[in-house]
Amino acid sequence: MLATSKIEISQQALAKNLAFIRAQIGEQPRLSSVVKGNAYGHGLEVFVPMAEACGIRHFSVFDAAEAYRVQQVIQHPDTEIMIMGMIEDEHVDWAIESGISFYTFELERLAYAAKAAQRIKKRARVHIEIETGMNRIGYEAHELPAVAALLSSHPEHLHFEGLSTHFAGAESIANYVRVTQQRKLYKKISKWFSAQHLQPQFYHTACSAAAMRYPPTRMDMVRIGILQYGFWPSRETLIEFNAKANRQDNPLERLITWKSQVMDVKTVRTGEYVGYGTSYLASDTMKIATIPIGYAHGFSRALSNAGRVLIRGKRVGVIGMVNMNAITVDASQLENLERGDEVVIIGYQGDLELSVSSFGEFSNQVNYELLTRLPMDIPRHVVD
Ligand SMILES: *Cc1c(COP(=O)(O)O)cnc(C)c1O
Repeated sequence: MLATSKIEISQQALAKNLAFIRAQIGEQPRLSSVVKGNAYGHGLEVFVPMAEACGIRHFSVFDAAEAYRVQQVIQHPDTEIMIMGMIEDEHVDWAIESGISFYTFELERLAYAAKAAQRIKKRARVHIEIETGMNRIGYEAHELPAVAALLSSHPEHLHFEGLSTHFAGAESIANYVRVTQQRKLYKKISKWFSAQHLQPQFYHTACSAAAMRYPPTRMDMVRIGILQYGFWPSRETLIEFNAKANRQDNPLERLITWKSQVMDVKTVRTGEYVGYGTSYLASDTMKIATIPIGYAHGFSRALSNAGRVLIRGKRVGVIGMVNMNAITVDASQLENLERGDEVVIIGYQGDLELSVSSFGEFSNQVNYELLTRLPMDIPRHVVD
């Protein structure tokens, strides 16, 4: 093993999650697999072919660079790619040539796309992102007549593939009013476009949380990120789902397992400090083990004196500060501990499990952030 840790991604878990999502959304909507952020840290190049093997034929990314990476690894001729965020004019040309669809949220880009399509002699597949209340990207109401004018005057250059928006926190009941207002505004703008004789091929608004919690938001396509990786957008979303479905288990399964190994073992005596500074003072004679993963590998410094890992089937705690490339754990309770023993940072060891959120704190967004911070250069392997 050249790297100090490795990540395993389970094909079976992905198949199970996608089947669950499909059962929830029904047969009709298209399922776009969101693979931005290096497929939420799972490794885009590893994940995309796995999803294709499960029948996924549509991938959504944030920018042109990610679209390019998806394009390099897709295997099925029908598979499509959609850029939901950043694209510059120079990459618009490439996207049109490659048949990659992209969001526009500014008039200049839409006008540029029309011109580029004319020059390239291929239709640009555009998604019109509208501002409905998230206040991030999206055309504002006063820009819509100009958008409609551009679409209407360039039918042979601009294919109106989608009308989209994104909800500002559909995973939380606290945002119910705001999301409801966004849904209303989206509907109103959809009708307005229809009145201009402009109808997109796909109406789409739903991320994972919206698709689960607000069925009418599913429309023609859902853009599913976190659920397919086996995580709920928030605890609330799982609790609400279970209450409605009258069940208590978790129908999703995590794909990811992150493992390393024991690098060194030693004994420290009562009254000695462990690691940098004075943050951990041994109150007893203790056995400690060092693991070669640190904040440079995505194991946050915030887990100093707080994180947990699994070794020899037991849960052990991080002591002292998380270093750039290493952590130290209290191994006093572990017998026959040896250098090279397996360490699980995320995943199962025996009956015990560490989920992503239990190695971090317990905020809603923790899964998204911890996953996407796993560095690209930790090797990813597909397992059954
Ligand atoms: C990230 C993202 C999604 C997917 O969100 P999940 O909560 O992971 O399902 C959908 N739509 C847009 C525009 C996004 O940026």
